[in-house]
Amino acid sequence: MMQKDFTTGIISTGYFKKDAYNALQMPLYANAAYEFESAEAMADAFQGRSAEHTYSRITNPTVQYFEQRVQKITGAVGVTALNSGMAAITNVILELAYAGANIVTSSHLFGNTWSLLSSTLAPFGLETRFCDLTNPEEVAANVDENTCAIFLEIVTNPHLEVADLKALSAVAKSKNVPLVADTTIIPFIDFHAQDFGVNIEIVSSTKYISGGATSIGGLVIDYGNFNWKHSKRLEAFAKQFGPMAFTAKMRKEIHRNVGAYMSPQTAQLQTLGLETVELRFRQASNSAKELAKRMKSLTGIKHVNHIGLEDHPYYSISKEQFGEYTGAMFTFTLDSQEACFAFLDKLKLIRRATNLFDNRTLIIHPASTIYGTFTQAQRDEMDIDDCLIRISIGLESVDDLLADIKQALV
Ligand SMILES: *Cc1c(COP(=O)(O)O)cnc(C)c1O
Repeated sequence: MMQKDFTTGIISTGYFKKDAYNALQMPLYANAAYEFESAEAMADAFQGRSAEHTYSRITNPTVQYFEQRVQKITGAVGVTALNSGMAAITNVILELAYAGANIVTSSHLFGNTWSLLSSTLAPFGLETRFCDLTNPEEVAANVDENTCAIFLEIVTNPHLEVADLKALSAVAKSKNVPLVADTTIIPFIDFHAQDFGVNIEIVSSTKYISGGATSIGGLVIDYGNFNWKHSKRLEAFAKQFGPMAFTAKMRKEIHRNVGAYMSPQTAQLQTLGLETVELRFRQASNSAKELAKRMKSLTGIKHVNHIGLEDHPYYSISKEQFGEYTGAMFTFTLDSQEACFAFLDKLKLIRRATNLFDNRTLIIHPASTIYGTFTQAQRDEMDIDDCLIRISIGLESVDDLLADIKQALV
């Protein structure tokens, strides 16, 4: 059951076991292994007949409590915390893909995800079909019997393209293919991915959840709403575990073997981050919209791209899917790359840094940084514009941010 109020739900999530010292904050269990009373109890734990912890690459009480909070608030059947957003994406793909399989996605992807698919996984025989995810017919035409997933980012970074999730889910359902969504840009507060037919949600918890860029982390959230007998890799698990097949294989095999489980130190920081994420997200979203609105009338800025502004092509679909709060990231364009560099160099309050959803406002020129090692042809394929600047709004006042932008434009 999903809890109605986000923050109440997060804060009231109980522990699996009563804490030995009644600690109010989940203690940091910074240990690698766990001891057993008997050889039999040890065998039971290793063979899955008991839920005791064995080794912290597989499970850990502090990480499990973080997962439990996310599971309770999202209504998911299983949550796995990994040590980065990229580890979460990699684990999901390694669970679904096989040599000869294909994944249908957009060329509008986070740069490292694009590279993971195009460079890292392609040599293992996974084909990636880049298509226009805002065109369901094109997506349907790209799916065949070897499609292991349709993968998308719910708001593409940095283009801010928003696909219609219900339309994509209809295609996915009709073809018996799971819909996998990277939802990092809009956290699971007002936006409920499962209501739009998403089967597996992936989040870089480094961003909003970490509580001010304290740590790197990722989440795989399984809604148990796909019939895994249709997945070549999961058929056997589907017979044994039914709707729990995805999480069962993730926990019993994939994340255990890949070895990218979240560290307990990170889980403790991010557990605390969850307690304030609703507050921070709402404030940063409001500030981003207000700042974007005010920046539209500044001379020197060619175009402001923010999905929460009414004249944006994806305004209606964003509102339908995400509600009033459309996130703290937006982009704008200046006349040239030189103008972008000169502008960035003059900023005093806004910080030149990658990352998103820190408590401080961060700014970056994507073409020369995140996409800087790609060729011009690859950047063209990904529609990365030399004149584009990406900004991620923090918790500073809008007036102060606008003043900094104004002084840097002259
Ligand atoms: C940052 C980001 C990632 C990668 O997450 P890390 O935690 O940095 O590994 C993946 N997808 C999107 C949309 C992101 O913004």
